Amino acid sequence: MIKRKGILFVLSGPSGVGKGTVKEALLKTMDDICLSVSATTRKPRSNEVHSKDYFFVDLKEFQEMIDNNKLLEWAQVYSNWYGTPRHFVLEHLQKGCDVLLEIDIQGAMQVKNKMPEAIFIFLAPPDLNELARRLCSRGEDSQESIDLRLATCEAEMAHIKYYDYLVVNNDVNEALEKVRSIIQAERCSLNNIIVG
Ligand code: 5GP
Repeated sequence: MIKRKGILFVLSGPSGVGKGTVKEALLKTMDDICLSVSATTRKPRSNEVHSKDYFFVDLKEFQEMIDNNKLLEWAQVYSNWYGTPRHFVLEHLQKGCDVLLEIDIQGAMQVKNKMPEAIFIFLAPPDLNELARRLCSRGEDSQESIDLRLATCEAEMAHIKYYDYLVVNNDVNEALEKVRSIIQAERCSLNNIIVG
């Protein structure tokens, strides 16, 4: 009898690298992976839906989630707080479902401490000039915020060594194919299969 364990995939990388785009594309082409919806104190953007994109909460509710041990990890990412609800992740893994987290590097390092068996994928920009171009073109950030994100990115790149895989996002479709291949390979890995 062959059974497979649920695998936790952590897709992470610097701000503006395209994690959100790769995640969206991945979910469109893979229906057998569950996305963990994060809680955040950030205000919703016009196209965002509560409980689909994020659980939008205020600072008091976020603090209560921390105090009640409801979050697997949490971090302040620039001016807002973000966290992964613990119950959803553990429940789905226990059922044998694969779960995807799309989180920042501080959060990924906390998950690494608590669940080292998870698979960590670092999505990196081709270079800082390209990252600057992407941050400018998405039009969400001031020049000051872009400068801060670029400086942070340089420091964040030092964390690559804690990850299992590095995917350089030169082209979204290529990055997507690489992430899909990593997921498929891990599903075949005997580390994740129970033969008995
Ligand atoms: P945005 O506000 O643009 O949706 O996300 C900003 C940053 O927060 C992104 O780098 C995203 O990966 C990160 N993020 C989203 N959810 C979580 C989470 O639950 N935990 C952590 N640590 N980071 C998150």
